[in-house]
Amino acid sequence: RTTTWLQYNITRYGNGERLILVRDVTRLHNLEQMRKDFVANVSHELRTPLTVLVGYLETMIDADDGSHPRWTRPLVQMQQQAQRMQSLLNDLLMLSRLETANVRADEKPVRIDLMLPGIRKDALALSGDRQHQITLECSTQAPLRGLETELRSAISNLVYNAVKYTPEGSSIHVSWSRDETGARLSVTDNGPGITADHLPRLTERFYRIDSSRNSSTGGTGLGLAIVKHVMMRHQGELKITSTPGKGSTFTCLFPAERLIEESED
Ligand code: ADP
Repeated sequence: RTTTWLQYNITRYGNGERLILVRDVTRLHNLEQMRKDFVANVSHELRTPLTVLVGYLETMIDADDGSHPRWTRPLVQMQQQAQRMQSLLNDLLMLSRLETANVRADEKPVRIDLMLPGIRKDALALSGDRQHQITLECSTQAPLRGLETELRSAISNLVYNAVKYTPEGSSIHVSWSRDETGARLSVTDNGPGITADHLPRLTERFYRIDSSRNSSTGGTGLGLAIVKHVMMRHQGELKITSTPGKGSTFTCLFPAERLIEESED
């Protein structure tokens, strides 16, 4: 059975006339599907051999008694690179799940305000002796209808990025609030900021600003692509604003329909 995919574009004119353009996008849709399947299959297939490699490397490093000093450094570097590949594969798999799986089935009320202290703790651990200041401000306890694991991953990505891309001692402010238009989670830092030419491309897969490519932050370039997809699946959006030299704000906007009112509990 073959499906035909059509794209409609309707333009309304002042005099009441309409122009309807219909485009057959079946080929485009099928190609996109092939790309998604390919990425999902390759990441899945690479996972097992990599797990074996990482396992053996760990055993070898543990058993290293210093009798072959030449191998100590290469082994540790091999382990680091293999672990980096693992996080890439995990991010790729997460992205392909976000592109294929249906969200509605497992949606539950999620208390973002209760999730934030844990994320803050992990972010402080990531900061270590770089001593970031992370403040939380929650002005609502209303649960959000969504997928807990995905929301957690999106918010963590933003807070971890703020830690990764700002210098020692920087301040990060995380706020969770609502108004009549919906709910918003924002992560603001006072780091180096991002120049306007990079902003539109930040959520593309593998897009990294050159300075971070060369640094040792160990990112995959998939983090913000994941955040964007999570937001799309929750009918929300990710907004990024930044002033070079002053800092950046990443805001997740959720529509009001996603909030669960007290009386519904
Ligand atoms: P990754 O962190 O794996 O490189 P992301 O998709 O999460 O990938 O981020 C893409 C790029 O955006 C990063 O490489 C970094 O250059 C830039 N970036 C993200 N967050 C910030 C931030 N808070 N301040 C400055 N630059 C940032």
